[in-house]
Amino acid sequence: MSQSLSVAVVGGGIGGLTSALCLARRGHRVHLLEQASAFVEAGAGIQLSPNATKVLLQLGLGDLLAAVCVQPEATHIRNWRSGRQISQTPLGKTAQTRYGAPYYHAHRGDLIKLLADAAESEPNIDIQLGTRLEDFSQSDDGVTLTAEGQSQRWDVMVGADGIHSLVRAKLWGEQQADFTGNMAWRMLVPIEGLPSEIAVPKTSVWWGPGKHFVHYLVSGGRYMNCVCVVETDTWHAESWTESGSVAQLRADFGGWHEDIQTLLAQADESTLFKWGLFDRPPMDSWSQGRVTLLGDACHPTLPFMAQGAAMAIEDAVILANCLTGQTDVARALQRYAQLRRNRTARIQRGSRRNAKVFHMSGIQAWFRDKAASRAGQQAMDGLYRYDPLLVGLDAP
Ligand SMILES: Cc1cc2nc3c(=O)[nH]c(=O)nc-3n(C[C@H](O)[C@H](O)[C@H](O)COP(=O)(O)OP(=O)(O)OC[C@H]3O[C@@H](n4cnc5c(N)ncnc54)[C@H](O)[C@@H]3O)c2cc1C
Repeated sequence: MSQSLSVAVVGGGIGGLTSALCLARRGHRVHLLEQASAFVEAGAGIQLSPNATKVLLQLGLGDLLAAVCVQPEATHIRNWRSGRQISQTPLGKTAQTRYGAPYYHAHRGDLIKLLADAAESEPNIDIQLGTRLEDFSQSDDGVTLTAEGQSQRWDVMVGADGIHSLVRAKLWGEQQADFTGNMAWRMLVPIEGLPSEIAVPKTSVWWGPGKHFVHYLVSGGRYMNCVCVVETDTWHAESWTESGSVAQLRADFGGWHEDIQTLLAQADESTLFKWGLFDRPPMDSWSQGRVTLLGDACHPTLPFMAQGAAMAIEDAVILANCLTGQTDVARALQRYAQLRRNRTARIQRGSRRNAKVFHMSGIQAWFRDKAASRAGQQAMDGLYRYDPLLVGLDAP
């Protein structure tokens, strides 16, 4: 028997918005709460791999995505100092054929706008901006949420409220996220100032001792998005992001290849930010009764496989698959977490491992480089062949 549920989704990031859309398209009534007064995304670029774009295409967002994204031709890994090519793995049409959906680079603002516009025009979704979840309680029949002093009751609650998740803390107790020993500089460079050999539609990844540098085009090719990662023992900032000085960034990457120096020469302090990179150990389960979690709220990960948002997008469709046609909500939520646990834990651990692999030096780096082409293709196949649209459809 098909049953339409009322679902409160807490958080309007990439995960929460995608979840709202997936649930609404299955006929559920969704109430989306976001604490910010508008939908916003911090940072600039995001890589969207085929395992995630499969979901966005199914939501009917394919043409809109194609209009704002860049489709990279390849992932290109290079040596930090000499620029020597370590490996090159084709993306573009090859990836689209191999994995059944495109690989895209997007500006986060474009992605969020496209998801928010789709949610706003969806009759089954009711959006409440500027509303912070404060508390909740649940019984066998429903979940009561308290936000801005008002209480409302729903059949299900999804905590898509990010790495600092209040929903997670209330269910499993307050726990500090782990500083991973890495920080990232993030900046956008306008394409006009760059030579044509740098402004190519590729994911360029430079591996160096204790650091790496990633750059790719976003916003229809108008900007180069740069993520520059540096190992550091401490992260003192109270906030997880802080503005940074161009001089410090240039000092961090002093001695790196001239292409990197060309990019750094264009760094603009007003758009430069430093991020402490945090994660948490994998959880065994993240559903309790009628409440579950999604995205960074349950499996925050280092960005070194570019899969955090992709995991949230996969969660969204699999949660909708699990809930649809089920009368036992608590059981459906347990099943959702069970179906997601191993894959997301592998990605959390793999991203931690990549932090070491990308930053190797000496003989270790030499062995790593020899194996890079084959290892890279294998890793991509494991990640991108996965089809979340098919997971959780079969009733247990
Ligand atoms: C440097 C860097 C690069 C990355 N690159 C990639 C990449 O290339 N590809 C990729 O797939 N991933 C990437 N990621 C990871 C990705 O950004 C995250 O995994 C993803 O954005 C998580 O989405 P989310 O919706 O789960 O959480 P969030 O984006 O954190 O959204 C949570 C939302 O909940 C709201 N909220 C929180 N608490 C409450 C409350 N109590 N009440 C109401 N609202 C609340 C917040 O305001 C926010 O809008 C990267 C991350 C970093 C740091």
